Amino acid sequence: MTRPVRLLWLQSGGCGGCTLSLLGAQGPDLVSALELAGVEIVWHPSLSAASGREARARIEAVASGEEPLDIFCLEGSVMTGPDGTGLFHRMAGTDEAMMRVIERVAVRADYVLAVGSCAAFGGITAAGGNEVGAVGLAYDGRQAGGLLGPEFRSGKGLPVINIAGCPIHPDWFTQTVQQIAAGVFDERDIDEWQRPLAYTGHLVHHGCARNEFYEFKASAENLCDMGCMMEHLGCKGTQARADCNIRAWNGSGSCLDGNYPCINCTAPGFEEPGHEFTQTPKISGIPVGLPTDMPKAWFVALASLSKAATPARLKDNAARDRMVTLPRDKARDAAAAKPGKGKR
Ligand code: SF4
Ligand code: SF4
Repeated sequence: MTRPVRLLWLQSGGCGGCTLSLLGAQGPDLVSALELAGVEIVWHPSLSAASGREARARIEAVASGEEPLDIFCLEGSVMTGPDGTGLFHRMAGTDEAMMRVIERVAVRADYVLAVGSCAAFGGITAAGGNEVGAVGLAYDGRQAGGLLGPEFRSGKGLPVINIAGCPIHPDWFTQTVQQIAAGVFDERDIDEWQRPLAYTGHLVHHGCARNEFYEFKASAENLCDMGCMMEHLGCKGTQARADCNIRAWNGSGSCLDGNYPCINCTAPGFEEPGHEFTQTPKISGIPVGLPTDMPKAWFVALASLSKAATPARLKDNAARDRMVTLPRDKARDAAAAKPGKGKR
């Protein structure tokens, strides 16, 4: 008889938003998704009843090697301060730096998952002066290394799997765990930032409801406008790698559907873009962040052509919060305009 796949989840320097997002998993819900995959939760701060001594005992049993561990998940960055001691964040009820507990658990696991951009790259916790010394498990921002070092490999020979996002889409996690539990996840399933390709093989731009506005460079000017947010409102959907507009969040919607530009939260360093999230940096009126793989000259030429050809409907609606000009049926309009139409 094979035993269940054992999963342990620890939280460190983050906001808990990735767990919150995960609890919203639908079709199926989180508990059913894990059960169906044959996953047993050794401990999770929000899903397990155990706390205090009992929780520490479960974690220690894994960290010491007394009990096996298949999947280790860390949510939140590792806080290495002050001066690399990690003592800003200690395991509750002990004096041990959480950083050391994370290291001891990570080396025991067959698969190590950094859940969320904090655990992957440092994320929001690492923004600004980063007095707490926040880093990811395998990256410190864009720099390979993090807590575990660039050479780290888990028990099954894989690097840390970075389920980046702030927060993660619940399916990014459940799908990865299901693949692991089924024994069909290997190094070919991750991209250059060690993120699962199942969701980073797309651009956020794919499936965005504003694509028609994008094609004709009909731009939004304010956050609730209907037009494309690339030109003025800082949208990075044409460069950001995620399937947010293909795989609906909470049954429907995405940041773009909520009238907020994509800030590329699945990428390292997203937390400090060097400008306001809702502003597009430009040089001579041309956005600095151009679509992935598109030469600047092409973008400029195509943008001016498409601007010249923008249908009145899109131009009228782009900077409005609701449609003011509706689509028309040209054939019907032409028939209605025929001379003699309506006369007997
Ligand atoms: S990645 Fe974002 S949502 Fe997740 S713990 Fe960090 S700050 Fe919170
Ligand atoms: S708003 Fe962003 S994601 Fe949507 S079409 Fe424009 S550039 Fe693409």
